[in-house]
Order: sequence, then structure tokens, then C-alpha cells
Amino acid sequence: LDLRNEDLKELRELGQGNGGSVKLVEHIPTGKIMAKKIVLIDAKPAVRKQILRELQIMHDCNSKYIISFWGAYLAEPNICICMEAMDNGSFDGIYKKTGAIDIDIVGKVALAVLEGLTYLYDKHRIIHRDIKPSNILCNSAGEIKICDFGVSGELINSIADTFVGTSTYMSPERIQGAQYTVKSDVWSLGVSLIELALGRFPFSESLSDDSDLSDLEGTLSPARPGSMNSLGLPPPRKRNSAAAKKDKRKSKGVSLQGGGMTMSILELLQHIVNEPAPRLTPEGRFPEQAEAFVDSCSLKDPDQRKSPKELLNDEWIIYSRTSDVDLQAWTSTF
Ligand code: ATP
Ligand code: MG
Repeated sequence: LDLRNEDLKELRELGQGNGGSVKLVEHIPTGKIMAKKIVLIDAKPAVRKQILRELQIMHDCNSKYIISFWGAYLAEPNICICMEAMDNGSFDGIYKKTGAIDIDIVGKVALAVLEGLTYLYDKHRIIHRDIKPSNILCNSAGEIKICDFGVSGELINSIADTFVGTSTYMSPERIQGAQYTVKSDVWSLGVSLIELALGRFPFSESLSDDSDLSDLEGTLSPARPGSMNSLGLPPPRKRNSAAAKKDKRKSKGVSLQGGGMTMSILELLQHIVNEPAPRLTPEGRFPEQAEAFVDSCSLKDPDQRKSPKELLNDEWIIYSRTSDVDLQAWTSTF
């Protein structure tokens, strides 16, 4: 499919992120409905073309747990990425509308993400790098799929010197500058599942105003080269969606405003490294198998944490595979 900007009619906005916005569009020549992600990238023409080439890998990513890719093109100064549109949007939007999500549904989310991650890694050696509720999507057919994985090394490079994309779903080893592995995605999955099951970002209550920041500097700097956001795309250097982002972060209980911005994020990163990992609480509210699964995602030592593939054999995931919760019926309730 040869995609051109002038063939795509914008129907409505699906959402805004750090790097740009996502629109629901119709491809006029074929009548296909798609989601168009518009990303502003500050890079030289040669690099932009390289990024575009690298994004083509997504054509080969065919799994029912991965968002399908229609194509990408340059629309200076943006890169547009066209993908399958999911009519129920992302899980962050869903739980903010419905409140805490039923644990059996959360189990289906866990299964889908693990299947998607296993596919990406086994078939393409791709590590997602940005698992979080806004990158887990759902449609009214009851399908759950992941999007915005880090396919482009050039994109990963071009965000090297920014802190803006640093994710609060980042694993402790990643914050401390270690190599990214599939196990870092497992940590992010654990945090995301807790968020869906509790109906709030799990770290939001642990931030205090007077945390000690003294030993933070050394912790932070090594992590910077790899910090990344959706699709591994860099946030624009001159950001024009600052207000939108502030609102998003506020809803997670992390203040990003003004001079206080960096402090709060640093505080959170310090907390992730030094404090006990987040859990499904209070004890007894959730099935033991779900608690145990989340605890195994939240092991701080990546060597002890299992890979997505190994976790497909976890008891709770085996249960979730057979559980008869009706996702399609569930999506019709909101
Ligand atoms: P960040 O920029 O920090 O990664 P994000 O994932 O929310 O945050 P985007 O990837 O730009 O940012 O997506 C913005 C929103 O658009 C998402 O939260 C999601 O609700 C919606 N969205 C993205 N892709 C699709 C899609 N394929 N179908 C339907 N909605 C989508
Ligand atoms: Mg995203």
C-alpha cells in the first residue's frame, strides 16, 4: 500500500503523547480506516530516511498480539506511521473511564502482552522497551494488542540526550544504566498490570515531598542514552505539546510542572531503585496466583526475573488462557 498524506482524511483525534499525536484517518483510495501517528523528529534527512527504512521491519511483524502496520512516510518535518486502529483505545484510557479493571481481564492483558513480547523477541529479536497501559490497545472484537515497540536503532540513537522520554515504567536496572533486555519489559508489564488492577499508577502514593535526593546523580546519568518512549521515537526537541503532557503526568500523580518537574521524576526513579517493588495490595484482595505473577515480574534483580517466554508457563497465565471471561462483552460495557 503506497501511503500519501493527501490520501488520508482525518476523522478525529485518538490521543496525544510525548512525541506527537495519533489521528483516526480514512485512506480514501481504499476506504481503509487507520490510526496515523504523527511524530516530529529533529534529525538530518539521511537519518530520517534511515529511520523510515528501519520502520519497514514492522511489515514483517504479523501476530494477533501486535498492532498491524500499514506503512510509514515522511511528511516534513514529521514522520507519519500508519497502523491498525483499535476502537477501544488504550488501557490507560479504559481504566480511567471504568475504574479498576477486573483481575480476570487483567489476566488476559498479561497473557496478550507476554505473547506479543515473545513473538517480537523470538521472531525478530525485538525488545519492546516501552510497555505501559497506553501502549496496550483493545478493540470491540475483544482483541488485545501491543504497539509502539522499539524497531529502529536509529530512532533509539536520536533520543540519546533527552530526559523527557524517560518512562516511569522503567526497570531498576535500566534506571541504573544496565543493558536493556526482554526482562526490562517484564518489569514494565508488572507495573502496568498493578496499575490496571488498582485503577491507579502504583507509585503515586509513595512520592513524598521531602525525599532525600542526595545520592541520585550517579544513578541517573548512565541511564540517559537508552531512555526512550513510544516506538523509540524521540520527543521533539522543541516541544509543542507541553501542556498536554503536563496533564497526562498529573493524572499519574507525578507533577511535571515548572522547576519541580525534574525533581519529581528523579524522586520517582530513586524510589524505583531503592524502595520495595510495587505489589498487588492489599493482600488478599486479589487471587494468590495473580499476586505471585506480579511479584515475579517485580523482582529487582533481572537475573532472577523470568523472560516473557518463561512466564507463559506461569500458573496464573495458564489459568488466564483458559478463563472464560468474555472480553468482547466486557468492551461493550464502556
Ligand atoms: P507516550 O508518548 O509517552 O509513549 P502515549 O503512548 O499515550 O504516550 P502515543 O503513542 O502518541 O502516546 O499515543 C497517544 C494515544 O493515542 C494513546 O494513549 C492511545 O490511547 C491512542 N492510540 C495510539 N495508537 C492507537 C491505535 N492504533 N488505535 C487507537 N488508539 C491509539
Ligand atoms: Mg504510545
